[in-house]
Amino acid sequence: MKIVLASSNEHKVKEINAIANGFGVEFVLPPAGFDPVEDGMTFEENSYIKARAAWEISGTWSLADDSGLCIDALGGKPGIYSARYAETPQKRIERVLAEMQGVQDRTAHFACAMTLLNPDGDIAFTYTGICEGSIITEQRGSHGFGYDPIFLLKDSDKTIAELSDEDKNKVSHRSKALTAVLNHLRSSN
Ligand code: IMP
Repeated sequence: MKIVLASSNEHKVKEINAIANGFGVEFVLPPAGFDPVEDGMTFEENSYIKARAAWEISGTWSLADDSGLCIDALGGKPGIYSARYAETPQKRIERVLAEMQGVQDRTAHFACAMTLLNPDGDIAFTYTGICEGSIITEQRGSHGFGYDPIFLLKDSDKTIAELSDEDKNKVSHRSKALTAVLNHLRSSN
């Protein structure tokens, strides 16, 4: 079964296909022209907007994810603004570290909302995966992307950037959401 992944990011398609390996599902990029306006107020709304845009140009099964980092002491920020919190990934990390300077409660989580639409454009399944942890005071590790070097996993002494891709895929918000989607597809076939 082929599912259009509502993304223009080839890295994400590879990561998601690696997690989906063995489920009999192949994720493919949408046809040219996929350019949704992500103006929702939640991860869930944005994932629906993206899934809908992919379905509108493909007319087939479409899956979208929307994810970000939520820090309790910052009232959930950067949240849906995670990708736009500053100009570059490094500047985004620096902004978070500056805003967290001297803050005691450093708990945070990554969230990933997924929306699966069927070929009629109806919602077949939604799920939000969570990965819990905390924000450390300096960067550690060189794997992964985004805020991984400052995110210490709960009950672990490692940041996500200190994990291999394979180990990240065992615990990440994205893999939890995707596993729920794949289990749903398997149980409804
Ligand atoms: P998107 O869902 O691909 O748009 O992700 C939004 C932003 O959230 C990314 O650009 C990253 O800044 C951040 N983010 C999402 N998932 C992760 C992750 O697994 N590690 C680090 N940062 C992430």
